[in-house]
Amino acid sequence: MAERSVAVVGAGLGGLSAAIRLAHAGYAVDLYDQQAMVGGKAGTKRRHGFRFDTGPSLLTMPAVFRQLFEEVGRRLEEHLELLPLAPICHYFYPDGTVLYSYSDLERFGREISAKTLDDTQALERYLDYGRKIYDNTAELFLWSSLHELSSYLGAFSLKSLLNMGKIDAFRSMDAANRSFFKDPRLVQLFDRYATYNGSSPYKVPATLNIIPYVEYGLGAYAVGGGIYSIPDALGRLADGLGVRVILDMRVEKILHRNGRIRGIRVGGEELGYDVVVSNADVLRTYEDLLEDPEARLARRYRALEPSSSGLVFLWGLKESCPELGVNNIFFSGDYPGEFRELFVERVCPTDPTVYVNITSKVTPGDAPENGENWFVLINAPCNAGQDWEAEVAASRERVLSRVEGALGRRLEGAIVTEEVLSPPEIERNTGSRLGSLYGISSNTSMAAFLRHPNRSRRYRGLYFCGASVHPGGGMPLAILSGKIAADLIRRREGGGE
Ligand SMILES: Cc1cc2nc3c(=O)[nH]c(=O)nc-3n(C[C@H](O)[C@H](O)[C@H](O)COP(=O)(O)OP(=O)(O)OC[C@H]3O[C@@H](n4cnc5c(N)ncnc54)[C@H](O)[C@@H]3O)c2cc1C
Repeated sequence: MAERSVAVVGAGLGGLSAAIRLAHAGYAVDLYDQQAMVGGKAGTKRRHGFRFDTGPSLLTMPAVFRQLFEEVGRRLEEHLELLPLAPICHYFYPDGTVLYSYSDLERFGREISAKTLDDTQALERYLDYGRKIYDNTAELFLWSSLHELSSYLGAFSLKSLLNMGKIDAFRSMDAANRSFFKDPRLVQLFDRYATYNGSSPYKVPATLNIIPYVEYGLGAYAVGGGIYSIPDALGRLADGLGVRVILDMRVEKILHRNGRIRGIRVGGEELGYDVVVSNADVLRTYEDLLEDPEARLARRYRALEPSSSGLVFLWGLKESCPELGVNNIFFSGDYPGEFRELFVERVCPTDPTVYVNITSKVTPGDAPENGENWFVLINAPCNAGQDWEAEVAASRERVLSRVEGALGRRLEGAIVTEEVLSPPEIERNTGSRLGSLYGISSNTSMAAFLRHPNRSRRYRGLYFCGASVHPGGGMPLAILSGKIAADLIRRREGGGE
C-alpha cells in the first residue's frame, strides 16, 4: 500500500508525541504550528541574559516520556537530563511555617512529624490510598482511549471497571484530605494538587488524589536546561525521523467531503492528506478549522467548565535568594476564598497562592551570574473579558507583598527584566479556549467521561490529541493523548509499516 500522509495541526506536546510515533510507524508526517517554535504552552523566552520557561515547570510520570523515546528506538537519557529534586518544593505558610516536601518518604515524614500535627504514618496511609486509586484507574483512564470498545476488553481495564467503587469518586479531594490529616497546613498542601489540572479541591472528586501519589511515589524532576528541553528534544527527534516540521504556519482549514477528511488549507493553498490529527484546542477545531460549530460534540464541549488559567510574571532578578529552591509555594491564607474567586466570581484571587519556579538553581546558564530567573505563577480565571490591565496590576502588588513578606526583604528593586503572560495572551499564543491551561476542569465526577474522544466519528480520518481531549491536560497526559491518537490511526487507517 502507498505511504499514507498525515498532517498534524499543532506542535504542542500532544502533536509532537503523535507525529513522532506516526513517522516511526512509516507514515509521511507534516507537523504544522502557527508559532515560531515547537512546544505550544511549554514554550521559552530569552530576555537580557535570562532564559525562562513560559509554561510547565515540573516533570512527573517520567515513564510516559521514557516510553515515547523507547517506542522509536531511543533512550531518554541520550536526549534529556532528568534532575531528581530534593526538596521537591519549599512551602511557605502565612503563619511563618516553612515545610519542605521530598519523594524520599522517610525524610518527608520526618519533616511532617517535626513541623505539623501529623506524622509519617498519616503520610504513608495517604500515599498508599493514592497508589491504590492509581492502580485501579491509570490503565483505563490515562493510557487507553475511553471511547473505544477495545479499551474495555483488556485484563487491566476489566480490573478498573470491577474496582470502580474503590476510586473515591463521590467526595471531594478536600473532604478526603481532611479525613487523612489533622493539620490544616497539610490539608492545604495536598489540596493544591487539584490545581495540577486546573480544578478546585472543593469540587474535584477525590479520585484525583492519585496526583500526590504520582508526584511522591513515581518521582518529580526538573529538567537540565529547563522544561523547554523537552519539546526541543522532541522536535529534533521528529525531524530525525523524517517529520517535516513547518513553523510560523497557521492551518486555516481542515478540508472534508462527505464525512471524510481530504486535507488542510495553509497559506491559501489546499493540500491533500489521508489523515489529519488536530492538536489545536478541540472547540477551535470545530469552530474555525472545520467550520462546524454546531456539531454535537462541539455544543457539548462548549457547555463544560474550562479549567483555570494562569497569570505569569517572568522576572529576571539581579540578586539570588538562597532561602528558595527550584519550586516554591507561598500559600494563600484563605484557600476556599481563592477558589471561589477563581471559579465563581471569575476574578484573580485577592490573596493568591504564589508559585515561584527558578530553573537557574539547577541550570546556572539560565540567568547571569548572581542573578535568578523567576517564573511566578498565580491561578487565574479563564478569560471572560475581565479588565486584565487592572487584574495584572493588582495581582503584581499582591504577589510582591506576599513574597516580600515571607522572605523579609524587598524584591521589586532587584527585578531587572519583566514580562507578563495573562490568560488572553495564553489564549492568543496557543489557541487555548479562553486561555485555559488544561482543557476542561475536573470539577465534576463525570469530567473524565466528558472529555472529547481522540477519534472523530463525524469525520473519518480525523483524530485529536492535546490537553482539551482525553486523557486531559498537563505534560504527561498531553504526551499520552498523542500516543492514543497514533495507536488508533495505526489500527484503523492502515498504511504504516
Ligand atoms: C503557565 C502554564 C503553566 C503550566 N504548568 C504546568 C505544570 O507545571 N505541569 C504540567 O504538566 N502542565 C502544566 N501546564 C499545562 C501544559 O503545558 C499543557 O497542558 C500541555 O503542554 C498542553 O499540550 P497540548 O498538546 O495540548 O498542546 P498546546 O501546548 O496547547 O499546543 C497546541 C499548539 O497548537 C498550535 N496551533 C493551534 N491552532 C493552530 C493552527 N490552526 N495552525 C497551526 N498551529 C496551531 C498552537 O500554536 C500550539 O503550539 C502549564 C501551562 C501553562 C500555560
